[in-house]
Amino acid sequence: MSAYEGELRELVALAGQVLTALGLVDYLGHVSARIPGTDRVVVKPKHSPAVRGMAALGAGDMVVVDLDGSLVEGPRVESTARPPAEVFIHTEIYRARPDVAAVVHTHQRAATLAGVLGLPIRPVLHVPATFVPDDPPTWPHPVLVDTAELGRDLAATLGDERYCHLQGHGIVSVAADVREATVGAAMLEQLAEAALAGASTGTKPRVITPTEIETLRGQVAGVEGRWAYFCDLAAAGEAR
Ligand SMILES: [Zn+2]
Repeated sequence: MSAYEGELRELVALAGQVLTALGLVDYLGHVSARIPGTDRVVVKPKHSPAVRGMAALGAGDMVVVDLDGSLVEGPRVESTARPPAEVFIHTEIYRARPDVAAVVHTHQRAATLAGVLGLPIRPVLHVPATFVPDDPPTWPHPVLVDTAELGRDLAATLGDERYCHLQGHGIVSVAADVREATVGAAMLEQLAEAALAGASTGTKPRVITPTEIETLRGQVAGVEGRWAYFCDLAAAGEAR
């Protein structure tokens, strides 16, 4: 195992713990990372009675697949673990997007509901607006992404964007880094919550303009601070 792979196993496991602490995943959803310089991907294993929730999974539980979604390396501690049925969400986005090295898929409540309603997720809160400057595209199928063909179709809808709705199902958040894709999912959820709350008032929201977002990007801290804070939340949850 390369040094990269060991580090990515830790990061993917930690991202699952963070998403759990933030209430963005339950036993469903998965995080992956592309091993640099390879066609291999570290991904959270399929949930089963033996493979527990993400809060309980560590680096050694992760599996490694190739871009066909086939298992090339099992976990060190659970011999029955398999890749998720929806591994093609990950592999086909990696195939289509050389710039992407991390994919987060969740069924997070507010963003999923906004996608079901066709409610635009707009940049109305200043920190998340720097992550999600405009409404994500929607892949209009509530089915499981359990074939390469469906994964390719989803990747085509995602295009060059960082987020995509899987209508009636969940979202994907992609980035060049696991931390960024994970924090991005949290930022998307904050704006989705604002969209749902705003829609219930019937009042037109004041949307932050692209020029203001540019200014904000120079003002707000990068992803590191938020990632560290979210990791603290995950660790505190574990300690309880
Ligand atoms: Zn799913």
